Amino acid sequence: MNPWRALVEAAFPASCPGCGRAAEPVCHACARTLRAPPVSPPPAGVDRWLAPFAYEGVARELVARVKYWRTRATVPWLATHMARLVVASGADIDVGVATWAPTTIPRRHARGFDHAELLARAVARELGLRAHPTLRRRPGPPQTGRPAVARRAGPQFDARPGVVPARVLLVDDVATTGATIAAAADALRRAGASSVVAVTAARTPRPGRVSPGQLAARRV
Ligand SMILES: [Zn+2]
Repeated sequence: MNPWRALVEAAFPASCPGCGRAAEPVCHACARTLRAPPVSPPPAGVDRWLAPFAYEGVARELVARVKYWRTRATVPWLATHMARLVVASGADIDVGVATWAPTTIPRRHARGFDHAELLARAVARELGLRAHPTLRRRPGPPQTGRPAVARRAGPQFDARPGVVPARVLLVDDVATTGATIAAAADALRRAGASSVVAVTAARTPRPGRVSPGQLAARRV
């Protein structure tokens, strides 16, 4: 283990993100509060979008751990649930490759890893698929922390040179507006994909919902 990671793990011992009890990645009681997101139509260019958990409560904290702390057990635990859902949906049968919507290069350098890649590789392992980087992110600000209106515009991607298979499993940590997934699916289709199934660890209960605070901000 590298010294930095050892330091982080010493500072943040394995604890449930819901209640703080000693449990990793989540205690049984808090795991029971996790629920599936309501069914909603996928964004443009995406055949199906799957997510085991609604992006709220403990699920939100688990996703944050993937993004910021890289706690050891969270990624495989989420990946197992994501892979089970893919299998249950029947969508894994013809998939050629698992890929991911890459985070910004500055973020990857700051964190030392790309959380979407970590999840994609873990989901691929569970499904016995090849994980392959097929996308490049065009320069621009990261989605996290941007206003909802800007997030809906989304980042932009291009396919890397090489062959994009006809059927792609696109993996990301969370879907909120669906803009990132739609942009990634668009790039994959431009490069020849005919089917894009997206799986995220969590999805907002109502994608694209605008909060009263955001509406008030818009009116100003
Ligand atoms: Zn708990």
